[in-house]
Amino acid sequence: MLVVMRKNAAPAEIELVTKAIEQKGYSARPIPGGERVAICVLYNKGPVDASYLSSLPGVKEAIPVTRQYKLVSRESQSWDTVIDVGGVLVGNGHLTIMAGPCAVESELQMMTIAEAVKKAGAQILRGGAFKPRTSPYAFQGLGEEGLKILAKVRSETGMPVVTEAVDHEVLDMVEEYADIIQIGARNMQNFSLLRRAGKARKPVLLKRGMSATIEELLMAAEYIMEGGNDQVILCERGVRTFAHHSRNTLDLSAIPVVRQETHLPVIVDPSHAAGRRDQVIPLSRAAVAVGCHGLMVEVHNAPETALSDGPQSLYPDQFDDLCRQISPIFDVYKASTNGCAENRQAEKPAPLDAGMV
Ligand code: PEP
Ligand code: MN
Repeated sequence: MLVVMRKNAAPAEIELVTKAIEQKGYSARPIPGGERVAICVLYNKGPVDASYLSSLPGVKEAIPVTRQYKLVSRESQSWDTVIDVGGVLVGNGHLTIMAGPCAVESELQMMTIAEAVKKAGAQILRGGAFKPRTSPYAFQGLGEEGLKILAKVRSETGMPVVTEAVDHEVLDMVEEYADIIQIGARNMQNFSLLRRAGKARKPVLLKRGMSATIEELLMAAEYIMEGGNDQVILCERGVRTFAHHSRNTLDLSAIPVVRQETHLPVIVDPSHAAGRRDQVIPLSRAAVAVGCHGLMVEVHNAPETALSDGPQSLYPDQFDDLCRQISPIFDVYKASTNGCAENRQAEKPAPLDAGMV
């Protein structure tokens, strides 16, 4: 249930509604909008008495929220969330490019790659300091030393950095050093880690599990938002199928569905989807055409000696090609969807005034 307050509802009226919801044994989560506040009812086991809540002073209407993922759902927030990552915007109207190696290997490697991807057009630098590897014998990452390198490269290039937190202890560290905390595919349903990410003061990049449905991805995001962190970026990175021609199968159809279901931004990782560099540029073009809010691409200056995911890492000049190729596609996407329903729902804060929330 979403209790929509009237424009200019007094703080005391909002307080009263919040108390009324809590007295019923539920939890109330205010969602501030342009000119109007909506209050989302959480933890109700059955239907909520809408007529009682609608009758309270200052209430415009009470709308049922049909989805399980309440805070994540467009039913709770009709306009698109845009996340500010150190001045770089992620969300509606922007195509944000994150690029860098799979793993941080050395300061020289990170500086070399950061300069190359920045020149090509990347705005955010990626690089894993803690790597979730299938084999315990594979390179596990430089650990905190890797985080220090990322922080140093950020200070020299001005690029915000995204890096993965594989467990609670690492998340504490990543929160200190990084600009975006990545939760990887393998941890998408690590619910205690998601709750910890919900308490973090930094945006979270949540990657879809390799066999997760879209509902499961959105429920995982709900854990983070329920914890109090509304800065969540979703990432489609391919799901496991019977195909052997690529490492995973990039689920392009997830993008329009996710955009319809949630106000959160959604980006695509073509590198882990493909697993081989020859597919990365074509998949990137397709991802932009289908409406993603950004890409996360693995790039390495010497992929043949990379300590992780070399075969899918682009050479810097290929990444430069990728950026050139997607730019006109994004322009066409924007021009051709301008005024369409898909974009109308993304206006902010007009939908509030239009009475949706
Ligand atoms: C990564 O981004 O380095 C990574 C391990 O990705 P995923 O969790 O999608 O496999
Ligand atoms: Mn990788």
